[in-house]
Amino acid sequence: MAKKAAVKRKKYIYFFGGGKAEGTGRMKDLLGGKGAGLAEMTNLKIPVPPGFSITTEVCTAYYENNRQYPKELKPQVEVALARVEKIMQKGFGDTQDPLLVSVRSGARSSMPGMMETVLNVGLTTKTIPGLIKKTDNPRFVYDAYRRLMMMYSDVVMEKAAGIEYAKEDEDKAVRKRLEHALEHVKKEKGYKSDTDLTVEDLKLLCDEFKVIIKHTLGKEFPDNPGDQLWGGIGAVFQSWMGKRAVSYRRIEGIPEEWGTAVNVQSMVFGNTGDNSATGVAFTRNPATGENVFFGEWLPNAQGEDVVAGIRTPNPVNKAGKTEDTMHLHSLEEAMPKLYKQLFDIQRKLEKHYTDMQDIEFTVEDGRLWMLQTRVGKRNGQAAIRMAVEMAKEKLIDKKTAVLRVKPDQIDELLHPSVAPVAEKKAVELAKGLPAGPGGAIGRIVFTADDAEAWAKRGERVILVRNETSPEDVHGMHAAQAILTAKGGMTSHAALVARGWGKCCIVGCSALEIDLARKKLHVNGKTLREGDWITLNGTKGRVYEGQLDLLPADPEHNPWYKEFMKLADQFRLMKVRTNADTPKDATRARSFGAEGIGLCRTEHMFFEADRIKSVREMILSDTVEGRKKALAKLLPMQKGDFIGIFRAMAGLPVTIRLLDPPLHEFLPHTDQELQSLAADMGVSFDQLNVKNESLHEFNPMLGHRGCRLGITYPEIYEMQVRAIMEAACELAKEKVKVIPEIMIPLVGHVKELAVLREMTEKVAGEIQKIYKVKFPYTVGTMIELPRACVTAGEIAAYADFFSFGTNDLTQTTFGLSRDDAGRFLPYYVEKGILEDDPFITLDKTGTGLLMKIAVEKGRKVKKGLKMGICGEHGGDPKSIEFCYEIGLDYVSCSPYRVPIARLAGAQATLKKKSKLKELARATV
Ligand code: PEP
Ligand code: MG
Repeated sequence: MAKKAAVKRKKYIYFFGGGKAEGTGRMKDLLGGKGAGLAEMTNLKIPVPPGFSITTEVCTAYYENNRQYPKELKPQVEVALARVEKIMQKGFGDTQDPLLVSVRSGARSSMPGMMETVLNVGLTTKTIPGLIKKTDNPRFVYDAYRRLMMMYSDVVMEKAAGIEYAKEDEDKAVRKRLEHALEHVKKEKGYKSDTDLTVEDLKLLCDEFKVIIKHTLGKEFPDNPGDQLWGGIGAVFQSWMGKRAVSYRRIEGIPEEWGTAVNVQSMVFGNTGDNSATGVAFTRNPATGENVFFGEWLPNAQGEDVVAGIRTPNPVNKAGKTEDTMHLHSLEEAMPKLYKQLFDIQRKLEKHYTDMQDIEFTVEDGRLWMLQTRVGKRNGQAAIRMAVEMAKEKLIDKKTAVLRVKPDQIDELLHPSVAPVAEKKAVELAKGLPAGPGGAIGRIVFTADDAEAWAKRGERVILVRNETSPEDVHGMHAAQAILTAKGGMTSHAALVARGWGKCCIVGCSALEIDLARKKLHVNGKTLREGDWITLNGTKGRVYEGQLDLLPADPEHNPWYKEFMKLADQFRLMKVRTNADTPKDATRARSFGAEGIGLCRTEHMFFEADRIKSVREMILSDTVEGRKKALAKLLPMQKGDFIGIFRAMAGLPVTIRLLDPPLHEFLPHTDQELQSLAADMGVSFDQLNVKNESLHEFNPMLGHRGCRLGITYPEIYEMQVRAIMEAACELAKEKVKVIPEIMIPLVGHVKELAVLREMTEKVAGEIQKIYKVKFPYTVGTMIELPRACVTAGEIAAYADFFSFGTNDLTQTTFGLSRDDAGRFLPYYVEKGILEDDPFITLDKTGTGLLMKIAVEKGRKVKKGLKMGICGEHGGDPKSIEFCYEIGLDYVSCSPYRVPIARLAGAQATLKKKSKLKELARATV
């Protein structure tokens, strides 16, 4: 007995239907997003056609076991199918009253259109007569049959069987051949739309389809419901490893091990006549975030007609109508009672899930069925507005609101828009639906491959298509924006662009695209590949040429401002900026920067009026010569610092003394050298010899950073003088200055000890001269492994540490930051490295060194101030790590400041909830 209990059968199937489900909404990992949603809706007593989900574990087992199903699967499917039959009171394969099912994929996180779906499974020559009798609608039955054949032959018999065609041979694919046959009948009969096809037309077409399938694939279309069902299930699992799905997963960072579930569900039909319909909707507007029920529907249609963008759909309600869709009939007007039921369901769902839902519904002969609910994708603007408003409505608490927006979504608000002045003057080419806000300019390309290739060459492109399909994602990703002639706000292009926060216009019906000749006609004009266009994705307007784009203006967005305030309430880590000019400092401050974490002084040296003096200094053989050149630079540097201190009044400003190899400043041409020789009063040859002697083999590991300060102390002395004179002058004006002088590339404590002494000496002298006293600090960059492991010694001479993780990554991995581009992307692609370590901190290696430095430093000096100023300071994942190891601030480029503010707040909230969990676990 005991043994029997131990070998309890593994459960591969979760049933839903008749008001009860075996699964729940929390079981996404096992049932996929779609399956979990269907189970949850069923439990909420929302009308859902019965069915069952085959778990993601089956997918994993299938791939682990040489593409074989676990043997318990088949009997479990049979049992579940029998339960569906019972509820529907129909039989799968029954000749009198046949049950038809859909077979759909459903991964843990939504992958719009990436995997396969087969509808109307169960239609065979034996079940067709019964269904005709039952529905008294032979046209509908034959239409359903031809759809089944199109989907099945394409998805199951061709794609899942590994048959692929090159772009130029696309017309040989079975789906294309079938579409061609359909178009041929329509043309011959003079029909405009698919709905004009008669029963006879469809019947003949179905016969023709069978011949084409046999001829193309060498196999009969299966006439057995069981074969169709298992073919469909297999195709969904196969599609998990399909090219499109793999490429989408890579872009979105979805792990392969997740697998997909398969949902088998009783069919309901939105195409049985005028009393039927289908639609897709969002509980709030996913493009703006406005709290209005928003969606699209089509009368007498099947689901894929709405999403595939074949017919441009109608707005679901009056509130969703725009100037361009005013004339279209909404569901609210066409079926008011049913709309009310749908409206109530979507409210219930949003309240239940406490988040905006993306729903699919079908009306079959006046009866409403829900086919899907999932958390809806949204762009940054909408995400922020929803978070703020939902918190106000008390649908969610403030912490949840802060966690709802991805830090990268903030970036979208910081993106440009088309300048209104330029737009007013511009001649509009065409209008479409505003699917992704913001402005974009780019050159027209017509294929996803071209978009990718052109973008790789550094071109800005706009991908123009009739409609997009999952095969286009790589090109959509590479493009600045996407423009489609067909499709609605829920079409593939709109959905994907929205997810990425990309500018996008869909349903721009005036475009006539001639793909073969790579040109398009629009309102009497012809545009070709490579021509420039501008999109206003917020309004759905297309313009010829390049209009001015305005930088983003988040400060005039009330939801953004409120949201950031909310986030700041939870953030414990400070956010500073890396800025070298008063302009950047001012901008960063307006974005919320709380000081400067890194001012790179060398950038100031490259300006045209200074580089000559810098070169003169470097090439001088004597201290006097260097001092003479430095004297010319001093007032200029001082002026820079005055501007920066003023812009950051009251906030700390970390100024780093000269860091890059002198090598970088050397003259490149004989002409430059000649003119310099004349200025310095030395011969060209003499200067040339000196110049060559300064060239280094490995400048990044050479004469740079504090090594310059040690060997040419007069350079650092001049810089400290400039900093302190600027600060003293402002202090006298009662401007609050907080200078932090930073020594770069310290690897040995003595380097810092020597340079600290020099700094304090000069700074003290200046303060004495100016007769003002204000606190200033001297600290160091921690950017070499040796500095990390000897951080305890270094801490004794430092008032602060700032992690230079660019150099620290370079020196930890022993790879050059300037050359890594040749092989690092390959490492990431092959999964050798999860992320590019110059973008996202390598926690295990570089991060460990940082941790050691934090611990050792604070052991010697309790509370030693620490921050990060490498590029990672603006990367959300790295910011979370910085918070975890106890840094006091992160510093990043001005445009990343808001992102860092949010990431910092989220890091605090996540750590708190982790601690809570830990506390719970230990109780
Ligand atoms: C660093 O190394 O991380 C750093 C901030 O300095 P730089 O990039 O100027 O070398
Ligand atoms: Mg550095």
